[in-house]
Amino acid sequence: MSTAVLSIGSNLGDRLAHLQSVVDGMVRQGGRIVAVSPVYETDAWGGVEQGAFLNAVLIVDDPTCDGPGWLRRGQQLEAAADRVREVHWGPRTLDVDIVSCREGSIELRSGDPELTLPHPFAHQRAFVLLPWLAADSAAELSGTAVAELVAGLDTDERAAVRPTDLALQR
Ligand code: AMP
Repeated sequence: MSTAVLSIGSNLGDRLAHLQSVVDGMVRQGGRIVAVSPVYETDAWGGVEQGAFLNAVLIVDDPTCDGPGWLRRGQQLEAAADRVREVHWGPRTLDVDIVSCREGSIELRSGDPELTLPHPFAHQRAFVLLPWLAADSAAELSGTAVAELVAGLDTDERAAVRPTDLALQR
């Protein structure tokens, strides 16, 4: 049994449709959707001038899928959204990051640059932590409550992640 927490984001084209394609695609590939967060809007960062992102978090499980399998599924969905990697940190139709992956109560750990688990920046990114907490109020990352990580975020960083009226369909 493996359960993945996926952070999904889009700031190009039909942003909501790109996020929805991950929910639909994960189900098509045999995953069961455990939780879907509300959709948030986040100003882009990283120094490249670009439009705001829509962000959300999905929790998906599939007894037949492991860490590399989740990465592969995410990359297939990025490719299906015609993602083009032109500028590092630049605009993208779809970004799927594996935030964390569990087998039962065991959180998988990996230092492989192809798949680092948990995702190395997840614990400090408001656009990951806020949706994740909204999707699962009991969520933990490496033994720390996500609620605690959210409480420790910089006020500006937290305020930059705005709730929207948009919703993903399960
Ligand atoms: P990005 O352009 O930010 O989507 O980064 C994608 C690259 O990060 C790919 O080469 C992945 O193999 C690698 N990567 C490492 N760890 C992860 C992870 N936890 N989730 C998604 N991609 C990862």
